[in-house]
Amino acid sequence: MRPALLHHAHRLADDDLPAYVYDLPGLREHVRAIRAALPHRVELLYAAKANSDPRLLRALAGHVDGFEVASGGEIRHIRGLFPEARIAFGGPGKTPVELAEALDAGVERLHVEGEHELRTLTTVLGDRTADVLLRVNVPVVLRSVALAMGGRPSPFGLDPAQLDRCLQIIATDGRIRLHGLHVHLASGLDARAHLALVGHVMGWADRWAHQQGIELTEVNIGGGMGVDYTRPREVFDWPAFGIGLCRTLERHPRLTLRIEPGRSVTAYCGWYVTQVLDIKHSRGEAFAVLRGGTHHLRTPAAKQHDQPFEVIPDDSWHHPWDRPEVRGEPVTLVGQLCTPKDVLARRVMVGRLRIGDRIAFAMAGAYAWNISHHAFLMHPHPTFHHVDDVGTPVTDAYVGRPT
Ligand SMILES: *Cc1c(COP(=O)(O)O)cnc(C)c1O
Repeated sequence: MRPALLHHAHRLADDDLPAYVYDLPGLREHVRAIRAALPHRVELLYAAKANSDPRLLRALAGHVDGFEVASGGEIRHIRGLFPEARIAFGGPGKTPVELAEALDAGVERLHVEGEHELRTLTTVLGDRTADVLLRVNVPVVLRSVALAMGGRPSPFGLDPAQLDRCLQIIATDGRIRLHGLHVHLASGLDARAHLALVGHVMGWADRWAHQQGIELTEVNIGGGMGVDYTRPREVFDWPAFGIGLCRTLERHPRLTLRIEPGRSVTAYCGWYVTQVLDIKHSRGEAFAVLRGGTHHLRTPAAKQHDQPFEVIPDDSWHHPWDRPEVRGEPVTLVGQLCTPKDVLARRVMVGRLRIGDRIAFAMAGAYAWNISHHAFLMHPHPTFHHVDDVGTPVTDAYVGRPT
């Protein structure tokens, strides 16, 4: 944790915990570096579902070309904050009301997920026009990835066999303008694997466009840039990715590429700060019970990983008995929920951990609070803090979860 954040985490009162602490200067610096690594002809959209906190979105707004949204709620949220922003609307199961809302809100691109959706669109268009990409489940072989959305039977996107029918519908309806293809097949890829996927997708797309006698002018290759929760310092290799995309663009002089990452943009800027409420040993294993839990930070439960963390020692102790602690042994960090699934990190080594010490979970800026089941057990919600101290250098934030 860099000093300004640590300082803030120290100053929080016990009653403020658990707390989400967001590093806005760090986020700005990160997205600036992403943008700088990408060629000009690559447009960067942020996938709002990763974290749609308004302050984070405002920090991003000057650095991204627009936002990708996946519901009517997200359309209203983004439009409310940014009346002029470019919006791409994707996602399965769009209702007629949502499609109409998207048109009213002036979304720039609709990512069509199926033939029925396309037909539904024609019924809500009226005398308006729609600019669409067809989302395709391109046949590729995906080796093990964190989350696969395609390349196998999937509810996402169009099966290539349905593309011809969609093209016919579009050809007979002058209100629908087809700009190209959308492909979001996998999540959790490193730069090399992602570039290999882009290579496969572009090869397939070239053959398809050639067969159809159309020119590809736009391909959105989705998000899914990997975030490694076991190595918080190793971010996705954006410079290598940018160089690889340059090569793709050289072969396609009139093509605009779009990407729409979520997790890899905001994961690093969020911290979930909490406190050890109890420490116990059970049949030889150590457990630390923390304030809060996976109802605030569902990420480790959803992804079945150990959330990386730092211990922030707190030396105050006001009881007449010895302060319980674990020292130099593996400990399992659990929350306050009455379920064995409420685990934030399992059998991780700590130097020393005492009741009252604080714990700052790292990489809690994406798919964290907003995917959590807040209502379960009716514990208080966390407090939220956006640390903004432009000018403070971003230091190497992570100081060691022992291996
Ligand atoms: C979720 C999603 C993204 C963002 O994925 P990340 O793994 O967060 O980068 C992008 N595009 C689509 C269509 C998505 O569903």
